[in-house]
Amino acid sequence: MDLLIVGSGFFGLTIAERAAAAGRKVTVIDRRHHIGGNAYSADEPETGIEVHQYGAHLFHTSNPTVWEYVNRFTKFTNYVHRVYTTHKNVVFPLPINLGTINQFFQAAYTPDQAKALVQELAGEFDAKDAANLEEKGIALIGRPLYEAFIRDYTAKQWQTDPKDLPAEVISRLPVRYTYDNRYFNDTWEGLPVDGYTAWLERMADHPNIEVKLSTDYFDESQPLNKKDTVGQVPVVYTGPVDRYFDYAEGELSWRTLDFEQEVLPIGDFQGTSVMNYADADVPYTRIHEFKHFHPERADRYPTDKTVVVREYSRFATRADEPYYPVNTADDRAGLLAYRELAKGERDVHFGGRLGTYQYLDMHMAIGAALSMWNNQLA
Ligand code: FAD
Ligand code: UDP
Repeated sequence: MDLLIVGSGFFGLTIAERAAAAGRKVTVIDRRHHIGGNAYSADEPETGIEVHQYGAHLFHTSNPTVWEYVNRFTKFTNYVHRVYTTHKNVVFPLPINLGTINQFFQAAYTPDQAKALVQELAGEFDAKDAANLEEKGIALIGRPLYEAFIRDYTAKQWQTDPKDLPAEVISRLPVRYTYDNRYFNDTWEGLPVDGYTAWLERMADHPNIEVKLSTDYFDESQPLNKKDTVGQVPVVYTGPVDRYFDYAEGELSWRTLDFEQEVLPIGDFQGTSVMNYADADVPYTRIHEFKHFHPERADRYPTDKTVVVREYSRFATRADEPYYPVNTADDRAGLLAYRELAKGERDVHFGGRLGTYQYLDMHMAIGAALSMWNNQLA
């Protein structure tokens, strides 16, 4: 074995694929019973509808290198992601656009009029100086829209005062003064035509790659554990960085999700793939209806059944799957301490969403892995 990779998510698989193509023998271990990390999906058995098991995953990128790379393993549908939100029992389009603004104010503002209004409402903060999510949100869209669509949703999702969250979290959402309600701004987007798992399996399908599932790196009863491999073979580690160091610098805070899945005896529950719930009195953040991600599969998906998944968000304990880095000021200090510790680890390379404690989309995880391969490992 030339390289041991801990974690078979997009980061680990990209490194594995590149190393195998370069003639290296690679072993990938994962503590889960399947490959693919959080991008893994499976068909719901009763309906055959593909369900993303760890929350809906939409692929999008503006990076030509990443787009060329991912197209080696899958074709993409022409799905374009659009999200709606329910506030006080009325449905509005997201991200906040001219349609949302006019519906909210019951008005017919032109782009310039809407901009002038938002500027007036946002007067108290300047987006450039915004120190946290709340200031940034108000600076971008003004207090009334912030309170309707962002404040309570964010509080449900992060269970952290928006004043303690970094401004970047909200920068992910564009604000537009047109009626364009595409959720993403990227050049390319789509869903893998034959599903995420087929794509992930193709990345791992090489005689130089061995995959061992249900294998935890910290379980010393299995041979490829931390104690027996560090310093013996180069390691790419994509699990949680705080866990690697046995929480020596304290726990970094993560958010986890609970999914409540139901098969309903109706053809169409909500008419769209994702409906957010902006208000505090609804306990879940959003409902996914998976058949709408693949309208091109209409001839093989049932017309009298549908799969919906309610998503609830909460802080993760050590026993939960860590999904989103919360990234408070304390977390950032902790992360710096872990980065110092990481420098002392001989030939261990920390990568991916968990290994670097960063909010990485799939294209970012793949792009970062390609860079790590080219610049450090190759
Ligand atoms: P992961 O996919 O988390 O893989 C890490 C792997 O390491 C896991 O399989 C884990 O089991 C394994 N592991 C951890 N510890 C150990 C251990 N001790 N021993 C062995 N194995 C271990 N991105 C998008 O581009 N679009 C989206 O719409 C999108 N939606 C998302 C929705 C949710 C709810 C979440 C959580 C993420 C979403 N993402 C989305 C991000 C996407 O999941 C990540 O970019 C991608 O999974 C990152 O891959 P990764 O390899 O870094 O991490
Ligand atoms: N957000 C919000 N209201 C919404 C959708 C998003 O306030 O209806 C905020 C929220 O703080 C969230 C951030 O925008 O964490 C990024 O949203 P995105 O949909 O990208 O989150 P993800 O899909 O990664 O959970």
